[in-house]
Amino acid sequence: MKFPRLRISRRQGSPIAVPLQMAGLLSALIFLISGIFELLVINDLYAAQHFLLALLLVVLSAWAIVEVAWIRPGAMVIPLGPLRLALWLQLLLSGVRGLIDLLMDPHRQAFDASLSPPDFGLALAFVPLDLVVFIVISRLIIDAFAYAEFLRANQLEQQMTALEQARQALQQSEQRYRLIADWLDDVIWTLDRRGCFTYISPSIEKLSGSRPEDLLTQPAAAVLNATSVPLIEQACQVALGQLQAGLPIEPFRAELEQIGRDGSAIWTEWTMNGLYGPDQQFIGFVGVTRDIRERKLYDAELREARDAAEAANLALLSANAVLHGQATTDPLTGVSNRRHFEQALAAQIGRTRHYGEPLSLLIVDLDHFKTINDRFGHQLGDLVIVELARLLKSSLRKADLLARWGGDEFVVMLPHTGAEEAWQLAEQLRLSMSVHVFPVVPKLTGSFGAATLQAEETGEQFFGRVDQMLYAAKAAGRNLVKLSG
Ligand code: GH3
Ligand code: MG
Repeated sequence: MKFPRLRISRRQGSPIAVPLQMAGLLSALIFLISGIFELLVINDLYAAQHFLLALLLVVLSAWAIVEVAWIRPGAMVIPLGPLRLALWLQLLLSGVRGLIDLLMDPHRQAFDASLSPPDFGLALAFVPLDLVVFIVISRLIIDAFAYAEFLRANQLEQQMTALEQARQALQQSEQRYRLIADWLDDVIWTLDRRGCFTYISPSIEKLSGSRPEDLLTQPAAAVLNATSVPLIEQACQVALGQLQAGLPIEPFRAELEQIGRDGSAIWTEWTMNGLYGPDQQFIGFVGVTRDIRERKLYDAELREARDAAEAANLALLSANAVLHGQATTDPLTGVSNRRHFEQALAAQIGRTRHYGEPLSLLIVDLDHFKTINDRFGHQLGDLVIVELARLLKSSLRKADLLARWGGDEFVVMLPHTGAEEAWQLAEQLRLSMSVHVFPVVPKLTGSFGAATLQAEETGEQFFGRVDQMLYAAKAAGRNLVKLSG
């Protein structure tokens, strides 16, 4: 708010008062002298140098005019013009009177009253004229003073009115802000330079149970718990450091834990900034404290819900992985199942054709496995199948895919592998099986069918050729590898 400046000076009006007083004094003197002069004339009691008296009157008249001429035209509007006119008239009268007297009888002797009777002559005309001019001048000077005083009073009244309006506006605005502070849920406060409360709004009672008057002059840290105290202290220090460096204070915002009157912990959000006086000098801090207990509670619930959702998602992912594993894995041996193998083979045939690389396939089937089951039981038969899967897998490359086709029959997909290489690998596997010591059972052998993918051949045709080779190996006496030509 901009306040009007009140300009009242004790010397107000003096620039016009002094010349007016002088003019009044001079007019009175002129009137007195001219009266004496006329008296001397009437009684023939003047000397030959009488014109000096008239000259004095002229000088005094001119002096009065000059005095009034100093008054600025804007300083007084009303009777300054008539006053100047009257003063000129007074000068004219004095001049004319002196001139007439000089011309009429320059040789009249003084102090010879006995020679002739008193002669009222010109005095009859000039004394009333002098009197009228003097009265007019006096009247105008009084008017001028009154007018000046009137102006001054007006000006004072205007300034007083402006001041009163400003005071009322200030009072209203203060009331408004106080009402806001009083009814707001947030706590508004100010701190001095040392960080002690200089004002705290009544809402503090709702927040912490403490009354504002109990906290006044207390440091802000007194309402905070041990972990939050360093934060506010550091904020004050940083702000003072900024001030010393001539930099503006950065607003501070933090979540601080306040202690209630009953010792309970209250989560609050503090926002703080510098507080400046009318001359922009730093006088402390101003801030707002907001109750964020509900928000914190909501945040915690939200965090819990998010954690729960993440946990559920992880569980879902692992369940998916298990399901996927179950869908693609043979439960007995842990290697790929037939379904997965068929999909992988179809995809690999596509890639192989695209890159023009060789692809080979092996099928291995245990020889006379039924007898194992019959002799040692189905469970031990299972162990043999598991051991065979492990043995085969340990001899394959990472890129190769081993799957259990069913019963005692396994398939191996060999990407980037030609017929010769496939045959060698099959032979190697056959030998490994024949020398391997399976649990409990005597020596085991297996028969192998092998083939390499041909151009334009479907997956089924490819697989059929390998299967035929297996039958051929069986038919040829078992423990053999038969490669499709
Ligand atoms: P060959 O292959 O040399 O002609 O004779 P084989 O006795 O091995 O006959 P074939 O491969 O046709 O029979 C497979 C046998 O494997 C039949 C079945 O008793 C047995 N078998 C199939 N699945 C399982 C299984 O999961 N566990 C056990 N222990 N045996 C199985
Ligand atoms: Mg068999």
